[in-house]
Amino acid sequence: MKNVISSLSAKLRSGELTAAQLTELYIQAVQKVNPVINAYVHTTFEEARKDAEYADKLIKEGKATPLTGIPFTLKDNIATDGLLTTCCSKILEGFRPYYDATVWKKLREQGAVLLGKTNMDEFAMGSTSETSVYGAPLNPRDTSRVTGGSSGGVAAAVCANIAAYGLGSDTGGSIRQPASFCGIVGFKPTYGAVSRYGLIAYGSSLDQIGPMTQSVSDAATVYDAIRGVDEHDQTSAPTPDGQTKLTGDVRGLKIGIAREFFEGINPEIKSAIDHMAEEYAKAGAEIVQVSIPALKVALPVYYIIACAEASSNLGRYDGIRYGYRAANYTGVDDMITRTRTEGFGKEVKKRIMLGTYVLSSGYFDAYYKKACLIRKTVESQLAECFDRCDVLFAPTAPVTAFPLGYSGGNALETYLSDVCTVPVNIAGLPAVSLPCGTDAKGLPIGFQIIGSKFDDAKVLDVAYFVEKHNLCDLEEVKGGVSL
Ligand code: GLN
Repeated sequence: MKNVISSLSAKLRSGELTAAQLTELYIQAVQKVNPVINAYVHTTFEEARKDAEYADKLIKEGKATPLTGIPFTLKDNIATDGLLTTCCSKILEGFRPYYDATVWKKLREQGAVLLGKTNMDEFAMGSTSETSVYGAPLNPRDTSRVTGGSSGGVAAAVCANIAAYGLGSDTGGSIRQPASFCGIVGFKPTYGAVSRYGLIAYGSSLDQIGPMTQSVSDAATVYDAIRGVDEHDQTSAPTPDGQTKLTGDVRGLKIGIAREFFEGINPEIKSAIDHMAEEYAKAGAEIVQVSIPALKVALPVYYIIACAEASSNLGRYDGIRYGYRAANYTGVDDMITRTRTEGFGKEVKKRIMLGTYVLSSGYFDAYYKKACLIRKTVESQLAECFDRCDVLFAPTAPVTAFPLGYSGGNALETYLSDVCTVPVNIAGLPAVSLPCGTDAKGLPIGFQIIGSKFDDAKVLDVAYFVEKHNLCDLEEVKGGVSL
């Protein structure tokens, strides 16, 4: 795995390169590669140049942090003051927020350099990034394949190194699954560890912002820079002081393997994870078999809760205050109806209707209430596992990257591809996806390391073992910045 952030940071500190020069290199790379992979939907090069100037000042004054002067990207659902933030939806066409998301504020203050906003499924609803109003990003490892989703643009940009790192959001797998499809590292922190202020809401009880990087060390660096309590997000929570320590020492570590996570998984993926687990065992970790029967119902529980919350969160797009408004209408009700009919895509409408249905008075008990009850069971069964083991190993997705267009006729399969990631969001746990090999077609395979609540540092440390011992080095994608 390549430590992009620390190697660039060393060059900046030694004076080998200025932040302004590095920024120009990334801008050129974006201009060259992006027309092929469609990762960025809005570039912010002028902002980037200003950020770089500020970064060079910080470096000169000896005030640099590891992210000062490093060019990066934000998913298009993270609010950036004065800069387009559209959730890749027509309904937010032209929308420029008037405040910064806390994560962006934190990074900007440290002199991070924002190159632009990246492609995603509309309102983060999807697993291929194909529901974007700007068209799908392409997987840099095989441009006939999807990037995964919904943070597909971030995954593509980081994979091709036209961003040194990026921030995505994960409601049911949207950081981890595209990371696995593109062969990079994606970390979803514990719910509350990173402020959601300024993240455009999909399912508020599930949403979480996290880093997407080329290495585990880089993920830890970014995580440390964005975590912590925020007065603007009452669900945010304190995290331990100091930097996340990475040792990669797995002696005595108890790794739980739950049979239910491996049912229906492509055999190549299963054997790649088994192989990884063997490497850990050789280094002194112990494998513990556990069972989580409630995993079987996690997927429907997720879709009921996510859609219910989405139907409420998306109520605010009415053509009055935000973005798009229908051109012709006869009164307020008609204006709202037309705006929403024209402004939202098919997948978003499907989920608003499903969410409204499960919340409606006649069906509330049968669906929403029941899903909330089963959510507790999923949570408690996962918590019980952590009484017996330190972390769980699981596939990130049951398959590798789909061909482009596949989700059109196989929608069900793309929903099913979330089966291994959604339980983590339901229970608010931290989990990282990292590469563990390739399939026969040469496509990356990802695996997840899942931890107990607020064991984020442990999850990253356990993952660091793979990086430390070079257990999975995928081929570098050419075309982006190479230093
Ligand atoms: N694929 C899942 C969905 O469509 C997860 C999306 C996400 O995490 N934002 O809901």
